[in-house]
Amino acid sequence: MSPTIGLPPPPAERCLDSSRKSRYRGGTLIAEDVHDLVEHQRRVADIDGYRPEPCGACGNPRVHAHTRPERHPRGDPSLPPVIEVLQFRCASETCGATWRVLPLFLARHLWHAWKAVERAVLPDAKPSMSAAPPIRARTEARWEARLGSSGRVLVMLLAMSGGVALESVSKQVGLDVTRGDVAVAYAAEARAEPGERLASLGALAHRLERGIRLM
Ligand SMILES: [Zn+2]
Repeated sequence: MSPTIGLPPPPAERCLDSSRKSRYRGGTLIAEDVHDLVEHQRRVADIDGYRPEPCGACGNPRVHAHTRPERHPRGDPSLPPVIEVLQFRCASETCGATWRVLPLFLARHLWHAWKAVERAVLPDAKPSMSAAPPIRARTEARWEARLGSSGRVLVMLLAMSGGVALESVSKQVGLDVTRGDVAVAYAAEARAEPGERLASLGALAHRLERGIRLM
């Protein structure tokens, strides 16, 4: 019998539960309505499709395209090895906040795309993508550990969000749950598509409190 039965899950690593809101003027924004590469590339080409106006830090209506950082998502054969994203800068001299915009399918702090992460760690994820490269055992173990750690902060975020559906997720799962439990309950409530079951909660948590990570 596992010695952890009946005990709350272990605490989450600090990097997962730390808000960045008060320490950083700018940061990353997740475009939750960008589900695939085609739409991402359309918005990168158009720029206005991604432009975050007004500035989220000072409210200035003018935000300029600034740089095009590269992301190198691993593990998803439907994505190219290099994807450009857009970073914007507030036009106000006194503010100057920079905002990097990511599509929903790119995980904020992980080397792999969300689809690859989900395939590895969610037990009933579809065994598709036979062309997908295998995930290193150590990487997978780290993901498993993070999803197995306490989801208390995530549950409290959902409970305080003001959304009825989100409050209901937090009531269903209670406080002594893992991050994985919260992700599965939220994906069911939000009817998230396969491949977006982790991405959707990751994006929501970051929107509710910038910096909070699912994993
Ligand atoms: Zn600003």
